[in-house]
Amino acid sequence: MELLSIIVPCFNEEATVESFYARTSAVCAALPEIRVEYIFVDDGSRDQTLPLLKKLAEGDSAVRWLALSRNFGKEGAMFAGLEHARGDFVAVMDADLQDPPELLPQMLEAVRGGSFDCAAVRRVDRRGEPPIRSWFARQFYKVINKMSRTEIVDGARDFRLMTRQMVDAVLRLTEYNRFSKGIFSWVGFRTQWIETENVERSAGESKWSFFKLLVYALDGIIAFSTAPLAVASVLGLVFCVIAFFAIIFVVVRQLVWGGSAFGWPSLVCIILFLAGVQLFCVGILGQYLAKTYLEVKGRPIYLLRESGGGNTHEK
Ligand code: UDP
Ligand code: MG
Repeated sequence: MELLSIIVPCFNEEATVESFYARTSAVCAALPEIRVEYIFVDDGSRDQTLPLLKKLAEGDSAVRWLALSRNFGKEGAMFAGLEHARGDFVAVMDADLQDPPELLPQMLEAVRGGSFDCAAVRRVDRRGEPPIRSWFARQFYKVINKMSRTEIVDGARDFRLMTRQMVDAVLRLTEYNRFSKGIFSWVGFRTQWIETENVERSAGESKWSFFKLLVYALDGIIAFSTAPLAVASVLGLVFCVIAFFAIIFVVVRQLVWGGSAFGWPSLVCIILFLAGVQLFCVGILGQYLAKTYLEVKGRPIYLLRESGGGNTHEK
């Protein structure tokens, strides 16, 4: 029989894991001709998440758990899950029930039919979200899609069900700076988009502050576009052209009217402005250099402390 692996990254999710498991396993029990395994990845939680996961694993041999050595972030936790999944199909879901498990049968059907390699969920509205955050999110998708050749779909959640072939492709992208919205799109394959309305978190709190989202957005742009690196060249060219005409203007003015020793205040403004532009461009270079530095170190994306559940009781 075929196997479906459900990967659930959990970070301080003591309030949600049990209801997640209850609701998801009810849906999975009705899935035709497939076995299901759960891979809960405890991403260095500081609450009762891990003991709860161990308890779930005791009650159901389909539950496996991985405990990372510290908090590596959702991207790292997801990668750990993907590496450990054994399924012919692999689904990634949030623990907070923002990804309704009721969509699983439909997703599985789409992928099993053979005309799609992946079924992914995108939300068509952003209800329940602060309006400023929604506005910034929309602008982010506009900007990144202009700058990157990889399509980043607005409203796409990380909730998706993939074939083994696609999972293996994703696992070949071993970059340290993981921006999975881009990675899933970059590997290609045929994706069926399932549209839903926004669902609010069942319990607990979102781990994303506005500032964290902003940094994540910038990381995404740096990971999937090199367009900012061209900013320096473009601005440099523009200022060369301006300078060329300015020189002609100054020379002509000197020859015709003479007495050119004026314009100090404007000179100060120009120097300040250009210094700003130069520092800005150096800053962009710095961002890419920093990412390259981390990438070159070749550090692992996550580290495992212990794991268990399922049939293998490894410690
Ligand atoms: N998560 C994680 N590590 C982190 C942050 C989040 O594994 O450092 C998990 C979290 O437990 C949840 C999922 O990623 O299952 C999505 O997190 P959250 O609900 O906070 O994000 P949001 O839905 O608000 O985007
Ligand atoms: Mg959530």
